Amino acid sequence: MSKKGNHRWNIRVYRYDPTKGGEGHFDRFEIDIENENCTTILDVLLRIQKEQDPSLSFRYACRVNMCGSCGMVINGKEALACKTNVSDLPRNREITIRPLNHLPIIKDLVVDLEPFFRKFEQALSYFEPKEFSSEPAIIRPDSRERQAISLSTECIACGCCVSSCTMVNYHEDYAGPAALNRAFTLLMDSRDGLYRQRMSRVLASCYHCRTEFNCTEVCPKKISSTRAIKYIQRLALKEMRQIKDMDFKPRREAVASEPPKDAGCDGGLTGDIARRTFLKRITLGLGAASVLFMGGILAPAFVGTSMRQTPKRWVPVEKMENLPPNQVTTSHIRYDVQDGFYKQQITKPVMVWRKPDVNDIVVYDTTCTHLGCTVHWDQGKHLFLCACHGGTFDISGDVKTGPPPRPLDRHRFKVEDGYMLVEVV
Ligand code: SF4
Repeated sequence: MSKKGNHRWNIRVYRYDPTKGGEGHFDRFEIDIENENCTTILDVLLRIQKEQDPSLSFRYACRVNMCGSCGMVINGKEALACKTNVSDLPRNREITIRPLNHLPIIKDLVVDLEPFFRKFEQALSYFEPKEFSSEPAIIRPDSRERQAISLSTECIACGCCVSSCTMVNYHEDYAGPAALNRAFTLLMDSRDGLYRQRMSRVLASCYHCRTEFNCTEVCPKKISSTRAIKYIQRLALKEMRQIKDMDFKPRREAVASEPPKDAGCDGGLTGDIARRTFLKRITLGLGAASVLFMGGILAPAFVGTSMRQTPKRWVPVEKMENLPPNQVTTSHIRYDVQDGFYKQQITKPVMVWRKPDVNDIVVYDTTCTHLGCTVHWDQGKHLFLCACHGGTFDISGDVKTGPPPRPLDRHRFKVEDGYMLVEVV
């Protein structure tokens, strides 16, 4: 065998010509790959297109695992062509490439993603704030609420998970792993104003999941949509009392049909589902073994408190007599918040500026408006300082120097029985 022959690979590529229709077929190409470690499947396809068949169609854009355009089935497993090196594959020198499953084929390896994105739409994949505010509502990066969804937010909508899911094939109304993963990130968001509507949309879908983990296995971003689906089920169980009252209506019509434009957030939903039916289905959906496995997780869900963010409330700061006039006093407030699934006790400082007129008071939040570091009052400099990035604020809370984009945030406060209380979320 020639030296070149040692590098020769057979590539079988699915071909479909929409002008001819039919079932499609596989074409075989041979190419020499000198460095398998540095050659991706996308490189292989580009070479075939350039050197052997310019009519070969496939989709790609970024070439660096970011855009999600080049999802396809490579040797029977969904993957991004730009992320899969030839050296990742078995060394039998044969590679089979075909388009993603469950989506209409436009040409060769290019599929129509419209049904995929329609399922995202079904899950109300957009964020709608619970309340409008001129200031950004911040969820701290290190909060458990944010960390619980951290990986799930990395989805690049490549469609690999949906292609790998056998249940998508069997249930036309199944929203599928990608849309449910997206819904999960929003259901967990304490700022989300569409919680009930979103839950109504996706809950019926969740019982279709058979916990096969195919989606989790193929995701190029290492997201576990299976986990996301189980969390939604857990959320639903946790809020079972509300579900009884919730207008919980699964979509019965085919997913392919457009939701009616005038139907509002629950548009196009038909037929009620009883709480008992839901439990039965969710149990079937999980499978007996999974139910046992999940039991430990689900049990506390029945007794836990609501996962929704605790509403605004008043917490005590200090006795008024301990807040001398004409100076800034730092006091710590303590309160509990329901942060996603978790209850957290927050202890944080607030800075009270009691002006010479004792009834003229400002209570500043200590969170820097730049990157959320903690600001403190420096009596010597007569400034609020953010030690991390050098931001300074004057006593009125206005930015004096540095990167903060806006003045310090203020708390609403009131005085009751000689105590100062501030409003927190
Ligand atoms: Fe692709 Fe993963 Fe998103 Fe599914 S969850 S669309 S596999 S990035």
